[in-house]
Amino acid sequence: MKAQDGMYIDGAWRPARSQETIAVVNPADEQVIGRVPAGDAQDVDSAVRAARAALPGWAATPPAERGARLAALRDVLVARKDEIAETVTAELGAPLKFSEAVHAGAPIAVAGSYAELAATYAFEEKVGNSTVYLEPVGVVGAITPWNYPLHQIVAKAAPALAAGCTVVLKPAEDTPLVAQLFAEAVHEAGVPAGVFNLVTGLGPVAGQALAEHPGVDLVSFTGSTAVGRRIGASAGAAVKRVALELGGKSANVILPSADLAKAVNVGVANVMSNSGQTCSAWTRMLVHRDRYDEAVELAAAAAAKYGDRIGPVVNDGQRRRVRGYIEKGVAEGARLVAGGPDAPRAPGYYVRPTVFADVTEDMTIAQEEIFGPVLTILRYEDEEDALRIANGTVYGLAGAVWAGDEAEAVAFARRMETGQVDINGGRFNPLAPFGGYKQSGVGRELGTHGLAEYLQTKSLQF
Ligand code: NAD
Repeated sequence: MKAQDGMYIDGAWRPARSQETIAVVNPADEQVIGRVPAGDAQDVDSAVRAARAALPGWAATPPAERGARLAALRDVLVARKDEIAETVTAELGAPLKFSEAVHAGAPIAVAGSYAELAATYAFEEKVGNSTVYLEPVGVVGAITPWNYPLHQIVAKAAPALAAGCTVVLKPAEDTPLVAQLFAEAVHEAGVPAGVFNLVTGLGPVAGQALAEHPGVDLVSFTGSTAVGRRIGASAGAAVKRVALELGGKSANVILPSADLAKAVNVGVANVMSNSGQTCSAWTRMLVHRDRYDEAVELAAAAAAKYGDRIGPVVNDGQRRRVRGYIEKGVAEGARLVAGGPDAPRAPGYYVRPTVFADVTEDMTIAQEEIFGPVLTILRYEDEEDALRIANGTVYGLAGAVWAGDEAEAVAFARRMETGQVDINGGRFNPLAPFGGYKQSGVGRELGTHGLAEYLQTKSLQF
């Protein structure tokens, strides 16, 4: 797609205040594929003003009509799905098939789910002698990362619009092109001017200006824990609503009764997909000591099969960071059984699919989020030990449990301190609440729980 050279504010593409631009680079060949404006605090202010002006009209629009606009938006995304996939592949580096299935497919499913929810959700309820109205929170500042660039935009914009909120989006600087495509789709879908606005720009400039803008009622942020902590602090100081979707270091717990080959193969695929840049990836595989060696062998073979099929990571900084973690794993005494820190090919920001065995809980690679194609395999003695290791990080975003008997897996999952657990390879559900325990975040996205984040209650007594 061709990059827009303006910002989408108040229903039109408008020139940015400054001439500065951000280069968009294809991580597979390191070539510049476009430039977008680097918005500043004044651009953010214009967008927030537009969103505030549009708020009363959109909040008063009947939910069924808001749902109809979201259905139209879903239809535009469907019509432009090949362009979406190609754009994400160009700016993120994901293999095209993965972009088609996930980077284009998931946002379509989520937009569709909110088209339906807007029309069917009970925005009013009776509680004794009261009527409780669920009203939009107001103007939403949405700040999103690059790893699932369109999914994360839609997971915020769709429920916000369904709730009757208006939105200013600041997408990640590495993946602004699909955000521009989304703004075009919103326009094509007939969403009124000012209801959705896009400001591209740098995080510490445009992102921070949006998070701290007094005209924003709710900040919804997905990204690193470090930035999330700052945004949470400034929102707290301003007594502003905040939703944070942050990092993860999730456990894939393989109980002794599990189908080991299946659990290991699905586990490796989960970590390697999107080149390991998935916040909910199960990057710590936990295996009972009696089956440990067999699991390591299976995982090494599964990772080796990825070879050249894996895409690059998003940029040079990320590549250096991931390779640094691999070097640290070796230095701290973990055993490399697949991959390694060396570059598999050039140009492109590639990292080899890597598996570490003999990983202990105290190692950096067992505790910190690597955000690359790196799996760690830890050994446990018994179920209590497995639970202690699974819960032994500051994060709690996702996880998996495998067992011969589903009830056994569920009993274990109920004791995990985490927001989502896949049982014996359970499938993605776009209606299930997604979000973190502990330092993985505050609030939930998707489905009715995601919609509720954008609503506040007013009760009338009779
Ligand atoms: P990041 O925190 O650097 O950036 C995320 C967004 O915040 C970008 O749009 C960026 O421009 C903006 N930003 C940066 N500094 C800012 C500031 N000072 N004020 C306001 N905005 C600012 O994270 P990233 O590197 O883009 O993404 C990777 C991280 O995101 C990983 O840690 C990953 O786990 C996490 N993540 C979490 C989820 C989830 O749902 N929990 C989903 C995807 C990614």
